[in-house]
Amino acid sequence: MKIDYHMHTYLSDGRDTHEQMIASASYRGIEEMGFSDHVSIKPARWAIPIENIDEMVRRVQTAQAENAHGLIIKFGVEMDYIPGMEKQIQELIAKLPVDYVIGSVHFMDDWNFDTDVIEYDNIDINRFYRQYFKLVQQSAASKLFDIIGHCDLAKKFAYYPSFSLNDLYEKTAQIFKKANVAVELNTSGRIKPCNEFYPSVPFLERLAYHKVPITLGSDAHIEQNVGQFFDDALTMLKALGFKEIARFTKRQREMVKI
Ligand SMILES: [Zn+2]
Ligand SMILES: [Zn+2]
Repeated sequence: MKIDYHMHTYLSDGRDTHEQMIASASYRGIEEMGFSDHVSIKPARWAIPIENIDEMVRRVQTAQAENAHGLIIKFGVEMDYIPGMEKQIQELIAKLPVDYVIGSVHFMDDWNFDTDVIEYDNIDINRFYRQYFKLVQQSAASKLFDIIGHCDLAKKFAYYPSFSLNDLYEKTAQIFKKANVAVELNTSGRIKPCNEFYPSVPFLERLAYHKVPITLGSDAHIEQNVGQFFDDALTMLKALGFKEIARFTKRQREMVKI
């Protein structure tokens, strides 16, 4: 089943409307899709302003009611994980009629390492990777989220540590399993400097070994990118031994054949 659970509209940092994203998904053979605009407790320019959250809910519900292309449409959000703000995050999630919540780490303290590329030249990259994985592990252990987003985003701009990441992959996979979270295969890394999906193949191998459930997400910010590289992604998952992917309804997980 082709399911795309990660995309952004004009309400956060995407460009297009819900209707445009749905039409594109339909054209690309997506059977089930979910909107996941950015929501952040910490003010961030790419996130939906808190006062627009009601509009986000209305837009998704309208799209579901119109059912223009016969797709199954889910309501998700991509929520920033900010350590120490778990309670506020939980309260915000509780107010939303979500089918699933993607928990993502984009911030390291006040640095948004997802967009502010200039900083990479000023930091200790080995230390950055260790801190990054620690935050991802914490985000899973917090149990706030259904899906962990792009779980090796540290590689986005192709800065790599001098040590092997295998131990961190293994430890992180164990923590995901213990926390009973799903992890997304996010195909957008293919169009970033790192030029590969998140997470990378050796990390996916550890997730397969520990039987961590996988979701699929394009992280599209424009309608042309909905479902991007999904044929490759599904081929890769099958080659790694995955036979099912996860879908969510009102935060209940169910596995479906790929
Ligand atoms: Zn993200
Ligand atoms: Zn995203």
